[in-house]
Amino acid sequence: MSKNVLVLPGDGIGPEIVTEARKVLDLINDRFALDLEINEALVGGAAIDATGVPLPDATLEAARAADAILLGAVGGPQWDTNPDFQIRPEKGLLGIRSHLQLFGNLRPAILYPQLAHASTLKPEVVSGLDILIVRELTGGIYFGQPRGIREKEGGIREGFNTYVYDENEIRRIGRVAFEAARARDKRLCSVDKANVLEVTVLWREIMEELGKEYPDVELSHMYVDNAAMQLVRAPKQFDVVVTGNMFGDILSDAAAMLTGSIGMLPSASLDENGKGMYEPCHGSAPDIAGQGKANPLATILSVAMMLRYSLKAGEAADLIEAAVSTVLDQGLRTGDIMSEGMRQVSTAEMGDAVVAAL
Ligand code: ATP
Ligand code: MG
Repeated sequence: MSKNVLVLPGDGIGPEIVTEARKVLDLINDRFALDLEINEALVGGAAIDATGVPLPDATLEAARAADAILLGAVGGPQWDTNPDFQIRPEKGLLGIRSHLQLFGNLRPAILYPQLAHASTLKPEVVSGLDILIVRELTGGIYFGQPRGIREKEGGIREGFNTYVYDENEIRRIGRVAFEAARARDKRLCSVDKANVLEVTVLWREIMEELGKEYPDVELSHMYVDNAAMQLVRAPKQFDVVVTGNMFGDILSDAAAMLTGSIGMLPSASLDENGKGMYEPCHGSAPDIAGQGKANPLATILSVAMMLRYSLKAGEAADLIEAAVSTVLDQGLRTGDIMSEGMRQVSTAEMGDAVVAAL
């Protein structure tokens, strides 16, 4: 049966980078005879302008029906002033994540040797860096109830949120992480704050319990403060890191910076059955939109992740990653990763170079 891919270009540089990723996906679809049916729909600011809402019913229906979703980016200053938070571009993304229960966020931080100079760390500390952060995306303190700002005695206002995970939520993200570790270097570090927060005492307990099912994976635990420190001190000690929503948000941004190039990092958000939404880690970059300056490689690498995790075409994914490495070897650089002696190219030139390398 043919599989179905939904493409959501979104806002800002989204349409530009997605155009390049489409070239790659179309070529792979053809050469590997994947028989993919590829459709496009509106999300984010583009959807607000056309329909009044960031996630039109038609888009949600198409997302439900798809086997995988490729997203550019959403958001921009022209929608940031809307007083109704439901009519913000970001709500479109959050809506897809929660309706489809895309709880497993995979964020690789890979340092391409050709770009080692761009890292904030010394070359010997980061060379060969290849870690995967697995972040729980639909629970934890970002979604826990009750939440709000209330007035207590004496008219003093207090803000409050609830940090909650049930054992099933912990188990399902744990499984994603153990499976990923099994397919990689077989080391998994679970990050928590079990010395202070009960919810993470349970987190640690469930990870230990799961570990018995994965005796080939070496499981360790780290408190989040130490993990942040270790990540910038000696990041190569990590293979796969699994953590909750908030800790993962913070750690994965820090890990991304170690690679020095936001334009190079893909991400995946998976449900229980391996269906997923794939997108670059960066945002819609309104400052460079429409100028042909955006780096399309994070989106092209997101296509590789999509092929690997949702479309079971790992071989095609490997080829795309190799092609990206080839264009870097050729000295081609978009502005964000430009350095002396390299050749600066546009968004489309970079996409075409990857297609040629493929
Ligand atoms: P968001 O809130 O959606 O994460 P943001 O404002 O935090 O957005 P980005 O949109 O990722 O961040 O932009 C941060 C900076 O990185 C901007 O200067 C932008 O131009 C640059 N940038 C982001 N993505 C790319 C890319 N693909 N190519 C080149 N530069 C990029
Ligand atoms: Mg941001």
